[in-house]
Amino acid sequence: MMIQGATGEWEIVLGLEIHAQVTSNAKLFSGASTEFGAVPNSQVSFVDGGMPGMLPTINERCIEQAVKTGMGLNAEINLCSVFDRKNYFYPDLPQGYQISQFKQPIVGRGHVDIDLSDGTTKRIGVERLHLEQDAGKSLHDQHPSMSYVDLNRCGVALMEIVSDPDMRSPEEASAYVEKVQQIVVYLGTCNGVMAEGSLRADVNVSVRKPGDDLGTRCEIKNVNSMRFIRQAIEYEARRQVDILEDGGSITQETRLFDPNKGVTRSMRSKEEAHDYRYFPDPDLLPLEMEAEWVEQIRRNLPELPDAKKARFIEEFGLSAYDAKTLTSDRAAADYYEAVAKGRDAKLASNWVTTDLFGFLNKAGHDIGDSPVKAGQLGQLIDRISDKTISGRIAKEVFEIMCETGQDPDAIIEEKGLKQVTDTGAIEAFADQVIAENPDKVAEVQGGKEKLLGWFTGQVMKASKGKANPQAVNEILKAKILG
Ligand code: MN
Repeated sequence: MMIQGATGEWEIVLGLEIHAQVTSNAKLFSGASTEFGAVPNSQVSFVDGGMPGMLPTINERCIEQAVKTGMGLNAEINLCSVFDRKNYFYPDLPQGYQISQFKQPIVGRGHVDIDLSDGTTKRIGVERLHLEQDAGKSLHDQHPSMSYVDLNRCGVALMEIVSDPDMRSPEEASAYVEKVQQIVVYLGTCNGVMAEGSLRADVNVSVRKPGDDLGTRCEIKNVNSMRFIRQAIEYEARRQVDILEDGGSITQETRLFDPNKGVTRSMRSKEEAHDYRYFPDPDLLPLEMEAEWVEQIRRNLPELPDAKKARFIEEFGLSAYDAKTLTSDRAAADYYEAVAKGRDAKLASNWVTTDLFGFLNKAGHDIGDSPVKAGQLGQLIDRISDKTISGRIAKEVFEIMCETGQDPDAIIEEKGLKQVTDTGAIEAFADQVIAENPDKVAEVQGGKEKLLGWFTGQVMKASKGKANPQAVNEILKAKILG
């Protein structure tokens, strides 16, 4: 995407750092709980509190989660990695440093393919993924003149995923975050909930004239929704273009996005930037993983969104669009597979993406708490296929299923919705309609065969929609045209 300026077109260049909180019961280097929403400072061990002489112990579960995520990002897994201290002072960082990885991260180069709205895909490079501790939280809204500190989050494991500067529009950036989110949720390595801060993005924005070298970038910190990511980039790129076209230059700095005003604001410039004085943490040995342990993780990896999408296209004959919709969420994909198995896969896809998703959206339900279970929707489709009910009646049955959670067979039975295929019954309806409309019968016989459709409609109406339309058509033809 190009930005139109007074001096011509500008290109936006974007690189992202995603912080994803590792799903684990305990923190990266302590046994304290990671549960969200607990009473402040109730989940803090001596290690997290930075007490003198306390030693960190690595949590194997967090390592496994990082390795899995690396595999999901199609990345190299480094069997040997090193934990470093990143030194800075902050009230919510009692250790005085964050344990992170600097020169030797656990995961190296990888890539993610993003789907764009025009149906194309684009490959985004991933530079690295490293493990690090999260900091605590300063609370500024609890007291009129004091700030409080909650250390529950202190020491929780984060995966920092750093992309190459490969994105060129707000749409690409949010598609990238969405894809990474999808991958970690599929893998169960992060819950992906941006609203709780479990997944947040730092966005590096610069602009340049097409073909020029990279411009000076600004980093927008901790953006926590897809919409804010797009808004922040749009605002920031425009701000930079305006400065450059006025003859100014961009100061490399860290900025914050204000969602209420839709603007970014300077937080600190490069001159004030920290010198973190990284050095290997003397309390921790280099982390060495056995190749066999890593391979075992690889063998147990679940099917990932891209592979699932390709399989849905191949196995079920779905369009790329439907396959993407159905695989964007693992639970939805599982639901669909259960419905489609042994049935008309396209019909199943229509019911799931249109009727079911439509209902769930409106009712504000997740697929996990859908009142209509996969087996029940499958049964409904079976009743269409075996001609017990028509497609139109099926919509009625589905509505009742949504309201009551009942089985379709029970509803069909109770409401007497079985399609009438009994020709005797249909003939009786046909005879009645024919007898009541002699003039129209004459018109059909006179060559106006299009009117047959009207007769079919009347018979369907007389049967309250339960007659099989094909049978009705045949019977009418035989009766009127002989
Ligand atoms: Mn970080």
